[in-house]
Amino acid sequence: MNTTAAKAYAAHSASSPLVPATIARREPGPTDVEIDILYCGVCHSDVHTARSEWGPAKYPCVPGHEIVGRVKRVGSAVTRHAVGDRVGVGCMVDSCRTCSSCEAGLEQFCLSGAVYTYNSADRHLGGHTLGGYSTHVVVDQDFVVRIPDQLDLAAAAPLLCAGITTYSPLRHWKAGPGMRVGVVGLGGLGHMAVKFARAFGAHVVLFTTSPRKVADALKLGAHEVVVSTDPEAMKQRARSLDLIIDAVSAEHDVNAYLGLLKLDGSLVLVGLPEKPMLVNAFSVVANRRSLSGSSIGGIRETQEMLDFCAAHGVQPEIEMIRMDQINEAWERMIKQDVRYRFVIDLGSLA
Ligand code: NAP
Ligand code: ZN
Ligand code: ZN
Repeated sequence: MNTTAAKAYAAHSASSPLVPATIARREPGPTDVEIDILYCGVCHSDVHTARSEWGPAKYPCVPGHEIVGRVKRVGSAVTRHAVGDRVGVGCMVDSCRTCSSCEAGLEQFCLSGAVYTYNSADRHLGGHTLGGYSTHVVVDQDFVVRIPDQLDLAAAAPLLCAGITTYSPLRHWKAGPGMRVGVVGLGGLGHMAVKFARAFGAHVVLFTTSPRKVADALKLGAHEVVVSTDPEAMKQRARSLDLIIDAVSAEHDVNAYLGLLKLDGSLVLVGLPEKPMLVNAFSVVANRRSLSGSSIGGIRETQEMLDFCAAHGVQPEIEMIRMDQINEAWERMIKQDVRYRFVIDLGSLA
């Protein structure tokens, strides 16, 4: 198969830093869109994957699944996108399209397994898929979304993962007026959960381990902020919440948060810590609570989320970096020092 060369940053092992690399992209097929990548958000999943925290990754690993750019070329049968369009690609680049999940627009739960933007088997070139820390990418038109004109292109990048991953469970569990919604962890996902829960009309309580983030959380839309290391403040919120979105990237005590739910309340895990967490049965048996989880969101819902952001002025808070600052950015993200999403300017790599 014919390919073109893209510049990228890749990790060659779980313990090595990201370094410059050249990778192959397929020539666009009939239903493919070739995208010049302008910006790519930096998700904590990029670190979990590249460092093999979720199990052995495939190397070289090119992370990046918050991709925004412009269409450069389209295949002969492409109808949904045109050259020059502002487009995005999130965590998935394909799925079977025929199973019950795909038919329901829930490609992330495809019964054959969705093809993720990186570290999945590549059905076209063999080997594995390579993500958005690169200059261009080729993706089937059905997995490419439109970025509405009202959105700043760089700031839109984090919506493709952090945005949809928090929008989807807030919609599914019907966050809205009259509901008290907790958000745990003010990182990339957490800050979007605060913004969406607020935009949906819920009362929002943010839980953070970082006292220095309190003022920001209030500015971002939280009605209340609780420093979770303060036992008294936690005790005051016992049985006070209908829904909690837990966006923490590392091990923590979920029982402490289950105890904050009212009768029939739900704690939804979106964070994916490396190690299993202990759940005390008493935490859920009391008050008939639910512990659940949610994975990104389907393509249709991703477009709906982008259109919602355009209509309601919801925009991520970003710090722009050059590609060669990525290793430092990862270390800062791990130290909980990101406000609130790093976005790579791929112009710095071209
Ligand atoms: P992030 O920007 O690094 O934010 C994670 C936040 O968790 C931190 O800002 C911090 O918030 C809190 N935290 C970190 N370490 C902690 C610790 N040891 N104890 C308590 N709190 C801690 O990460 P992200 O990109 O938002 O991703 C969050 C998690 O979601 C990751 O595990 C990622 O892989 C996962 N994820 C899941 C999906 C999905 O589909 N379910 C999609 C994307 C990402 P405070 O400083 O406020 O405490
Ligand atoms: Zn992500
Ligand atoms: Zn499927």
